[in-house]
Amino acid sequence: MDTYVYKFEKNLYINLTNRCNNNCSFCLRKNMEGIDGNKLWMQREATAEEIIELIKGFDEKEYEDIVFCGYGESTYRVEEMKKVAAYAHSIGKKTRLDTNGLGNELNGRDIVPELKGLIDKVSISLNEKNAQKYDEVSHSIYGLRAFDIMLAFTDECVKAGMDTLMTVVDVISKEDIEECRKIALAHGAKFRVREYIK
Ligand code: SF4
Repeated sequence: MDTYVYKFEKNLYINLTNRCNNNCSFCLRKNMEGIDGNKLWMQREATAEEIIELIKGFDEKEYEDIVFCGYGESTYRVEEMKKVAAYAHSIGKKTRLDTNGLGNELNGRDIVPELKGLIDKVSISLNEKNAQKYDEVSHSIYGLRAFDIMLAFTDECVKAGMDTLMTVVDVISKEDIEECRKIALAHGAKFRVREYIK
């Protein structure tokens, strides 16, 4: 049975897709079936309506935010994300999108104006300090262009007033982490180092 909605720590997570335009060397999907006993590889993608019904099965008092994270890149499914996010707001929940920041290129348009007002917080994987190094860890289908696409997406999110965070995984050097911190702050985002999950 596919897992589309699951509770992890204090939030409720939405698994919209397994598709991704990156192939990161540290991706959880490489060596895990899922998180916390939830198998996140899916046979088929759920509709927004199915996801909303599943959310209703969770006690709203038992979780804080609704997070689009998935076992893939949620911006493959912008329309479904918008519907689910609108539902989240209707029950008084904040929303967060965890993304590689490549959704504008993927969708062929700037999706940030559509997400504004529906997504409250966005966490963008910065991964590395420049295009070359980003590509070495992220293996994006957009090649060396991916880094600037991700930074431009970040700028749009900051401009749109979203609570914007950039992250790196602690598999890169300490020096590169510090360079990444400077990049995030220069783009008006917060910065966090994530622990590599084996
Ligand atoms: S962007 Fe996320 S889902 Fe895609 S390969 Fe990288 S870590 Fe995995």
